[in-house]
Amino acid sequence: MALLELDDVSVNYGRIRALHDISIAVEEGEIVTLIGANGAGKTTTMRAISGIRPLSTGRISFAGDDITKLRADLRVVRGICQAPEGRGVFPGMTVLENLDMGAYARKDRKNLPAELEHVFELFPRLKERRTQVAGTMSGGEQQMLAIGRALMSKPRVLLLDEPSMGLAPQFIAQIFSIIGEINRAGVTVLLVEQNASKALNLAHRGYVLETGSVVLSGTGQELLNDDRVRAVYLGGE
Ligand code: ATP
Repeated sequence: MALLELDDVSVNYGRIRALHDISIAVEEGEIVTLIGANGAGKTTTMRAISGIRPLSTGRISFAGDDITKLRADLRVVRGICQAPEGRGVFPGMTVLENLDMGAYARKDRKNLPAELEHVFELFPRLKERRTQVAGTMSGGEQQMLAIGRALMSKPRVLLLDEPSMGLAPQFIAQIFSIIGEINRAGVTVLLVEQNASKALNLAHRGYVLETGSVVLSGTGQELLNDDRVRAVYLGGE
């Protein structure tokens, strides 16, 4: 049994069907990536998993339980956490306050100092800037804070939607290596990325979405070697 399973999931926005019967499985301990062009349905898939968007058809299960109709906040309590899109940190709050907000759903609050230390080990920059107001930090720093905040909820699966978007190259490399570290520390990761080459190199497995359907899946290496993936998503590399 996979940790997270989507079975024949469809999602509509009004009369527009954004996802058509997609099936995706994420095993415990894996990094799985979703790649696809703009509008392919990657963000919609993440929203369906985190519970922001209801399904039109299909089923989502997590750790063996049907969570198709479970409220988004209760999914966080179970361990499904999405780092906010577009660096959605609380701009008027400090780094520490933002990190504290990430832990709101946790019952085991006595372990929070250890979690905070772990986040600061992954992101030393956040430790240096812990009293800085988040809105005044650089884009890359805010992205790190968004991921750090998600980690404070001690997720079993971390959903990351385009963590490298808009970042300078040195930050992009850093973010990918940190995602690897987070995974080695025991967190399952579902990663949506435009940067297909980096994502497939990091991920154990991947799914290719085209206009709301899964058209291909395989290990990261299989997809990197696939002619169609190379032509369409890797710029003919
Ligand atoms: P991108 O890489 O550009 O973010 P994506 O793969 O994440 O793309 P989605 O954002 O999931 O794609 O969009 C899938 C489809 O659903 C697109 O055709 C999009 O126009 C449509 N869509 C997304 N959000 C809405 C909405 N709120 N209302 C109507 N249509 C929407």
